Amino acid sequence: MKLNEKYEPVIGLEVHAQLLTRTKAFCGCSTEFGVEPNSNVCPVCLGMPGSLPVLNINLVDFVLRMGLAVGCTIAPRSVFARKNYFYPDLPKGYQISQYEEPICTHGSVEIDLDDTARKTIGITRIHMEEDAGKSIHDLDVDTLVDVNRCGVPLIEIVSEPDLRSPREAYLYLSRIRQIVTYLGICDGNMEEGSLRCDANVSVRLRGTTAFGTKTEVKNMNSFRNVERALEYEINRQIQLIEDGGTVVQESLLWDANQNVALPMRSKEEAHDYRYFPDPDLVPVLVDERWSARLREELPELPGPRRDRFVAELGLPRYDADVLTVDKGVADYVERTLAALAADPLARRENAKAVSNWVMTDVLRVVSEKKLPIAEFPVTPHHLAAMIGLIQKGTISGKMAKEVFEEMVATREHPGVIVDRKGLVQVSDAGAIEKVVDEVIAGNAMQVQKYLGGNDKVFAFFVGETMKIMKGKANPKVVNEVLRRKLDSMKR
Ligand SMILES: [Zn+2]
Repeated sequence: MKLNEKYEPVIGLEVHAQLLTRTKAFCGCSTEFGVEPNSNVCPVCLGMPGSLPVLNINLVDFVLRMGLAVGCTIAPRSVFARKNYFYPDLPKGYQISQYEEPICTHGSVEIDLDDTARKTIGITRIHMEEDAGKSIHDLDVDTLVDVNRCGVPLIEIVSEPDLRSPREAYLYLSRIRQIVTYLGICDGNMEEGSLRCDANVSVRLRGTTAFGTKTEVKNMNSFRNVERALEYEINRQIQLIEDGGTVVQESLLWDANQNVALPMRSKEEAHDYRYFPDPDLVPVLVDERWSARLREELPELPGPRRDRFVAELGLPRYDADVLTVDKGVADYVERTLAALAADPLARRENAKAVSNWVMTDVLRVVSEKKLPIAEFPVTPHHLAAMIGLIQKGTISGKMAKEVFEEMVATREHPGVIVDRKGLVQVSDAGAIEKVVDEVIAGNAMQVQKYLGGNDKVFAFFVGETMKIMKGKANPKVVNEVLRRKLDSMKR
């Protein structure tokens, strides 16, 4: 029996999302990223004696949106706590967080294991907290400290230990990222640290229910690293147990360059932090009206939107997945479709046409140019106009590719480009017939082959006709005319 059939991994994730509020959690300092070190600070976020924190209402709005989106119970009363520890990048000597009374509890998200199987992953809690500063060790001087990030609002989303493989952890994290970006509360960028993930990992013999001793893996700063780090740690634990050892509860730091997770420090017990309710902050009271208003304002979430793209627009599951990863892209698709769909019966056909253009051309250019979709040079209206030109037979699919590239370069309406470049397709059967007659008359040998049953030579006639018509003939009409003319010679 293979070892990974003998053992079952048990994984829980703690995800920190940095919120897109304009100001910090408990003061009016800006949260802007990349400014001069130690410039976004004030007595409150530096923890000067006598200063008092004031809660940023947007922090509560944002955490509530997340809690409601994943079906959490919202606590009518929750409390901020101080998490005490000393570190140079934490001038206050404690971090404001929530401990015994978090604002959101008992939610869940669904992940798609494959085309048909879904799995529900429990969310234990979501709480509010503030970020710490940053120590800079890698400059050629003593350690430097930048406290701009002190007090930047975060939410921590703690999952149940429901994940059973690195793949499931990856899918769960992707879904969390999708939800926070759909809600507009976090930009979801893992590489830049707006989304951070720590994992609790243990293994047990399959069929048993007791949990094994867990370790905590930190510093997995990309989706790929999460999967790789978890695979590494699961294999390490299995090997250790197989060799007669025991797993020690500890924190490990993932080193992406060497592909190893190395011990950080022995796990602090919770009481080491001496959590206690923050005496400077009043409890947060959320009434039913507040939750109800936010619940009403929730956007359509990624899972339901994907399902609707399949059910209502008739798109293949694969298309629907790709098109709903990013809310901006899904909006782009729907706006294009709205600009196209005059006839409700044509809606499904239009949806597939839009999907093809977005998946192959729009997303290609977006990733090449590293553009957010909102800044994409081809507007939904222009893309719809171009698809309309293809549907009307004005331009061929091939011409459309040329028109599209020009639209990206110039931001012009496709009609303007078609006129300027003279890219109009000839669909007039009379004009095409004339050329076809010419081609048939000039290639007696190929005609004999065709009449003798060699169907491959048909492509030759299409090619010759298109060549004479400089590629502007409607290929569908060319095919029809050629078939008709050649087949009539058989009798
Ligand atoms: Zn401040």
